[in-house]
Amino acid sequence: MTVYLVGAGPGDPGLLTRRGAEVLARADVVLHDRLVSPAVLELAAPGALLVDVGKEPDAAAGPGARGRSQEQRQAEIARLLVEHGRRCDVVVRLKGGDPFVFGRGGEEVEALAAAGIHWEVVPGVTSAFGVPGAAGIPVTQRGLASSVTVVTGRVGEGAGVAGTSEPDWAALGASAGTLVILMGMTARAEIAAALMAAGRAPGTPVAVIARGTLPDQEVVRTTLQRLGEVELGPPAVIVVGAVAAFGPSLGPL
Ligand code: SAH
Repeated sequence: MTVYLVGAGPGDPGLLTRRGAEVLARADVVLHDRLVSPAVLELAAPGALLVDVGKEPDAAAGPGARGRSQEQRQAEIARLLVEHGRRCDVVVRLKGGDPFVFGRGGEEVEALAAAGIHWEVVPGVTSAFGVPGAAGIPVTQRGLASSVTVVTGRVGEGAGVAGTSEPDWAALGASAGTLVILMGMTARAEIAAALMAAGRAPGTPVAVIARGTLPDQEVVRTTLQRLGEVELGPPAVIVVGAVAAFGPSLGPL
């Protein structure tokens, strides 16, 4: 009896690991997120129970309502994991990207450990690195960026709601490394303003990659100053820094 936390990768089913595919093929139950593509779910054992535990987009609910309902949903996911983990041989908790990168995987593991249920993590290709990579953007590059920081772009929610406190935008604005922002499209204009106020040049290259690695992937190149004007449907990764101007169509810098 094992619950496997499996990273499904950023979208393209070919980016699921072989280990992930192997445990899916043995699954009795699969509890999956909204972002996991149907082609990955098709790898589940025939007869496996597939449960969509994806959190709904929450824009309409307002910050307070959103926080509450998301916490309730997360508690429900933990309860389902424990319940199925007690009854079934192989339970797969399938999450987009990597389970431990803004995926609340750590909290799910805590719930399983507290219930005495055996668990294992099968890492995945995180969208933070895989999506820029597939678009031809190296997140580090000799001479351009010697560090990369991955942050959540959910701002103004305070500690605990997204499982984290808000990133220190002033410190990030003052640093020169690559910044990869997940969940950042709603607050993109605010984030750009905070980074520029802290010292990042308005002309800093920015790339926004929506639905990365999927057939309808879109890439927009812009600058920090103009980030607020970018209109792309979710999910999207925002890359800030000199490397964001890099890509196959532009040639080496
Ligand atoms: N655990 C996931 C991240 C979950 S947070 C991982 O490691 O990738 C969800 C955010 O991930 C989205 O808001 C978006 O910023 C990013 N994301 C996930 N899949 C994406 C994709 N195919 N293209 C662009 N961004 C993606």
